[in-house]
Amino acid sequence: MADCEQLRQHYEAHALGALEGEERVELDAHLARGCPVCTAEMERARWLVAQLAYLAPEAEPSGRLRRKLLEAVGGQRALERRAWIPAWAWAGAVALVLLTVFSVREARRVQGELAALQEQVRAAREQNRALESDRQLYQRALAILSAAGTREVALKPGQAPLPEVHAYWNAELGLVVSGHHIPTPAADRAWQLWVVPKKGKPISAGIFRPGTEGQVLFLPQLEARMADAAALAISEEPAAGSPQPTTTPLWVGPVS
Ligand SMILES: [Zn+2]
Repeated sequence: MADCEQLRQHYEAHALGALEGEERVELDAHLARGCPVCTAEMERARWLVAQLAYLAPEAEPSGRLRRKLLEAVGGQRALERRAWIPAWAWAGAVALVLLTVFSVREARRVQGELAALQEQVRAAREQNRALESDRQLYQRALAILSAAGTREVALKPGQAPLPEVHAYWNAELGLVVSGHHIPTPAADRAWQLWVVPKKGKPISAGIFRPGTEGQVLFLPQLEARMADAAALAISEEPAAGSPQPTTTPLWVGPVS
């Protein structure tokens, strides 16, 4: 006969629907006898799993992750017997592994840990959205670069050590500004792109900062303004941008 101490390792697996065989029979029988300790702990485990259910990932984890999770929540023997786990439960399993690290056994702390976990999930989803918007950016840039009728504008640096910046302009699809190894301006500064019209003052096309590797992929919204552009220019400006250039442009390229 198993005692509470032995059974407690199975609460989460049971609540996840991942406990089978004699362990499940033992725990069910033990709960049926009304053990107050295990009943309360099972309540907590079910509550936890229910809280985590909404975190369901869209895809199932890889085989290796699946094995690790199962080891963590159900033990190796449960793994050997079990081929499936409900898709939503993977999120619970991930969360349980994380919560175990945070000492999940202390029920009173679970709530706070859950909040921390939800924050992590939120951050992960945020990152997913950022990746998705990156993907859309690349797709738009690729569409412009590969379209018929796209013209290249080479923005030459006024100062020798700076690399060239390239802009690609398509009347229907828009403008892409692309660069590599572009230096990063100071924290309170940014690069600002200007459309210099044949007549009149430069028009801001927005600010950008290079990525960590100095990469630039910038798609300003300015389709209409490009029609009578004489040149594109990039100057260093305050981080929020300027209404008009306040410094000599570092890059200039004629729009032919
Ligand atoms: Zn018990």
